Formats: sequence, structure tokens, C-alpha cells
Amino acid sequence: MKLSERIGNGERPFVIAGPCSAESEEQMMNVCDEIGKNQSAQMLRAGIWKPRTRPDSFEGIGEVGLKWLVDAGAKTGLPTTTEVANAKHAELALQAGVDVLWIGARTTVNPFAVQEIADAMRGSNVPVMIKNPVNPDLQLWMGAFERFEKAGIDDLAAIHRGFSVYNHRKYRNVPSWEIPIALKENRPDLPLICDPSHIGGRRDLLLEISQKAMDLNFDGLMIETHPNPDKAWSDAAQQLTPSNLVILLNDLVLRSQEFSTDVADVINDIREKVATLDDRIFDILSERMNLSEQVGKLKRENNITILQQEHWKKVIGSRLEKSDDYGLTQKFVRQLMDAIHQESIRHQTSIMNSDKK
Ligand code: PEP
Ligand code: MN
Repeated sequence: MKLSERIGNGERPFVIAGPCSAESEEQMMNVCDEIGKNQSAQMLRAGIWKPRTRPDSFEGIGEVGLKWLVDAGAKTGLPTTTEVANAKHAELALQAGVDVLWIGARTTVNPFAVQEIADAMRGSNVPVMIKNPVNPDLQLWMGAFERFEKAGIDDLAAIHRGFSVYNHRKYRNVPSWEIPIALKENRPDLPLICDPSHIGGRRDLLLEISQKAMDLNFDGLMIETHPNPDKAWSDAAQQLTPSNLVILLNDLVLRSQEFSTDVADVINDIREKVATLDDRIFDILSERMNLSEQVGKLKRENNITILQQEHWKKVIGSRLEKSDDYGLTQKFVRQLMDAIHQESIRHQTSIMNSDKK
């Protein structure tokens, strides 16, 4: 069966575990053996070539590590996967017998590199998982899948690992969940795996991110697992021991997408009320736009600019003060008022430009 069918149809989540980097034969055997024994994962991962941000970091053990990964796969009976960043990596990984290749976030951004790997894999029927590019560019991510498909490789899956930002307070890579959700809308055929390790960058965030991914119906999780995380040669802060991986997976709450009919009836009643409220919101907004248009006419007749900065500052200030009273966040009220303001400016602009004399 194709990997993409196994991931999408099996029991959720499909878990890929193993170290950020293969460091030694002993480390690989140790961690993979434990993952195999505690049956926490359906696939083993290990980075062999590591595209690191700064040149003085550990850049991967290289070719020798491929054998350790493949041996760990044979011993545990689990399929294996590693990251390839160029055609040479892909050829070596295929020769060594790695079962699935993945394209890292720093490679997905580069269409030439993606094309080169797709060409090197032409004719093999090895599955490929593609991480999102480091920047939140849905088209670039979709383009990478298309390059593999054009090369005849159609057993594909997507891995969401978050997007680069400068000095974020919480995340190493912000999740921007709307991007994987949009990928799913465009490509419902692709299984979607979340990599909470690279999103969080810290092990204490792994459960929260994994739970969110499950609540958004992701199919699987890729979680970095190391026998002694604090001593890992790369990504020490985010790796988990195999026994903590078991705890994390047990703590996940897997909610169903289906409702029982009783619950569905109650929910449908509430949804109808929500739809009625939405209609009222639109009525009110339309009334508000009528008032804006009246102001727009007066501005036109009196030759006044549409944007009145000082007035708008006062409006925003007074509305933000009320946000607490309505149980709304200031952030939401700000976004809502900005959207209303922009629409109102559009209405006034069309008044300004209509039947000019
Ligand atoms: C990794 O999985 O170890 C890795 C380097 O990931 P990413 O490409 O998401 O940075
Ligand atoms: Mn890593």
C-alpha cells in the first residue's frame, strides 16, 4: 500500500520518531530500539545531512549514518526516513535502502534544488514527504509537490514545521495554521503531518502543538526523539526521550470529526442561531456603511479629505476601551475596526468619485 494511503487511513496519529541527527551507531540503535519496543511510532527518522543555519554547527554525520538508520529499521521492522537536500543525497539514500525521503524546509524554498532531487528520483517509487518552505508561501509548497508529480513520484505527504520569524516570544517557528489548512483545502489528497519539534523548539510546547494539530485533523506527527536529549548534537532543547514520547502520545486527546445524531441536532440548532446573528451583523454593517456614505457626501460637498486621522484615533480608542465589557480581546476589536474602517473608506471613495461636477 502507498505510504500516503497508510498515513491518511490508518489510526491517527501516524507517528514518525527518531533523533534530529544520527550521531553514532550506538545512539541510533539505542533510541530506535526503544521506539520499536514501546511501539510509539510507525516510522523512524534521523537527519544524516543537516542544513544548519550557522556554519559552525554540527552539519550531520554524513553517508556513514545511512547504514545505522537502515539497520535500525531492519531491527525494529519499521520503515525509515531521512532528509535529502540535493541529488547526491537522494542517490545515496536510495542506494542505502532508506524507505522514504523528506525534503527539508530550507530546500523547499529553492525550486532548482527541489527539481534536481525530483529528477534524481525519477523512476524510483520511493515516497517523499515535503516540509513547508521556511517562509509562509503556499504556492512554493504546492509547487514542490507538483515537481515530484511531474517526475512520476506521486506517493507524497506534507509536513508542517512552522515558519521563520525573528525572535518570537513563544515559538521557534510560528505555526501559522492557516497555511497547512489552505494546503489541505487545495490538496485534500495529501496526508498532513505536523512537526511540533521544529515549531516549538522547546519540549514543553510539544503536547500543546501536537494537540492543536490533532484538533485540526492532521494525520500524523513527526517528533524528534533522543536517548539523552540534553546532550544531543543538534536541537537539544526540543528533543524527547522515547519514554516521554509515550507519555505525550497518551496525553493526546483524539477527538472525532463525527457527531452522534443527538449532539448533531443540538449543534445544528445552535448553528442556526449563529447564522441568524451573522445576518444581523451584516444588517448592522450595511446600516453603518449607509451612515458612512452620508458623511462621504458631506465631505465631498465641503471638499474635505476622506481620512480624518485624529477622528479615527479617537474612534479606535473609545471602541478598544469597551472590548473587555463585551468579552472580546483588544486584538480582535482592533482587527474588526480596521476592517470596518477600510470598507467604509471604500464606500466614501466611491461617493467622492461619483457624479463629479
Ligand atoms: C529536521 O527535521 O531535523 C530539520 C532540519 O527540519 P526543518 O527542515 O524543518 O528545519
Ligand atoms: Mn532538528
